Amino acid sequence: MTAPPPSVEAFDLVIFGGTGDLALRKLLPAMFHRFLDGQIPPSSRIIGVAREALDDAGYRAQLRASLIKICDAAKLDQFLQQVFYRPLDARKDDGWDDFAALIASEAGHVRVFYLSTSPNLFVDICNRLGGYGLNQGKSRVVLEKPIGRDLESANRINDAVGKVFNESQTFRIDHYLGKETVQNLLVLRFGNALFEPLWNSAHIDHVQITVAETVGVGHRAGYYDHAGAMRDMVQNHLLQLLCMVAMEPPASLAPDAVRDEKLKVLNALQPIDDAHVGQFTVRGQYRAGVAEGASVPGYPDELGSASNTETFVALKAQIANWRWAGVPFYLRTGKRLPERVSEIVVAFKPVPHSIFDASSGTLTQNRLVLRLQPDEGVKLWLTIKHPGPGGLRLRTVPLDMSFAEAFGAQQPDAYERLLLDVVRGNPTLFMRRDEVEAAWRWADPILAGWANANEAPRPYAAGSWGPSAAVALIERDGRTWHDDSE
Ligand code: NAP
Repeated sequence: MTAPPPSVEAFDLVIFGGTGDLALRKLLPAMFHRFLDGQIPPSSRIIGVAREALDDAGYRAQLRASLIKICDAAKLDQFLQQVFYRPLDARKDDGWDDFAALIASEAGHVRVFYLSTSPNLFVDICNRLGGYGLNQGKSRVVLEKPIGRDLESANRINDAVGKVFNESQTFRIDHYLGKETVQNLLVLRFGNALFEPLWNSAHIDHVQITVAETVGVGHRAGYYDHAGAMRDMVQNHLLQLLCMVAMEPPASLAPDAVRDEKLKVLNALQPIDDAHVGQFTVRGQYRAGVAEGASVPGYPDELGSASNTETFVALKAQIANWRWAGVPFYLRTGKRLPERVSEIVVAFKPVPHSIFDASSGTLTQNRLVLRLQPDEGVKLWLTIKHPGPGGLRLRTVPLDMSFAEAFGAQQPDAYERLLLDVVRGNPTLFMRRDEVEAAWRWADPILAGWANANEAPRPYAAGSWGPSAAVALIERDGRTWHDDSE
């Protein structure tokens, strides 16, 4: 029998932006699931904060409507007794005294202040948290991505947050790091003797990281047009995944042991400057097309104006160190692509010499595919003999482990794990300030290169895999983007 999940200390989780999309779609369902598993001590409180004039009952009614699909009403009502709401404007003092009194009423609780708002409110919120004396005892602050839009703005935010909360209290969240498959990458690499000896440029040909979405920008167009795929996805999620693949074995899972190794990878990324941005990167923007069987408008139509913002990026990154010299990491991400899929593909080098003749078929590279979503799991593509008579015919098949099939129950959402890690004060899966800075240091010259080139992003039809230049980027090197249906 599996042991019940360990409980945590009693806590207050304050969600600034408690009525927003992320809070309603991810954070509150995550807490409800942990409640259902018995991990939330009864005196703990979840306190939603936003400007909307709601009281506890009004907020609970809003949540009831979105959480009722998870579980029956009795359990939900029990959970909602632990949920509260305070109307506040992060930029004004009204309401803060009342909010501070509510927090002070449980002085012994761990305090988690989750900033699920636009980053331009982070500084105001932290200043007021400091000013009202709320950073006391075991307090932590969680910062949602993106932290800034370049190194300079990220530093401004981190400096201001750092005046109130020290680094060990600051949890910069990247929910990709809480995904089951990403944790499993650590275990596959460092819990098996099989892979690590092969995990280097002598045996690995290249790595692909794809994070593809079928959705367009929808109601987030205002935010998205200010960011684009590079800031929204590559600088954080894709680089964090790259770090997990490429880092050296940490001495332990101690937070700084892991984060030190990730930082070394970020620092070893070869800069892509003005002269190379056209060669190693492709940016695109979707136009009208067919996605998930329906006709959908293009990005400019959704936005209501023309725009130079990319909704797709493909690029070739290189890590300048002994382990990875000469092994390209191809990254791609975009909206309105044909499939919702996030995966890491590690492609091994071909065998040095084939003993099979042409009539047997062609030998293909071994590939280790780690799928983060939708169906989390691991596949190892191997060449085998096609069973039965008919001569020795080669066939490529996956050793396939879908976590849902192997372990039955649905995997917990990444936010469930990460929120409780914050309560426990464990920052292993959160980004340290120097990691965020190193990631911007690499991303900024690419963004500057694009701005200097002053070229519009390449159009691609919604429902396609991005501009043809993204295919050319990898095919120029004699490789292809992985297709799991092959
Ligand atoms: P959203 O839906 O626009 O919600 C913003 C929240 O902030 C609302 O509750 C809003 O409520 C509140 N708010 C706005 N101005 C405020 C102010 N002056 N004082 C207090 N509260 C204020 O945004 P979101 O999509 O939830 O995203 C929140 C953050 O998470 C952003 O940084 C985003 O980049 C990040 N993020 C979101 C997702 C996602 O899937 N949505 C994923 C990853 C990261 P009122 O207007 O009533 O004040």
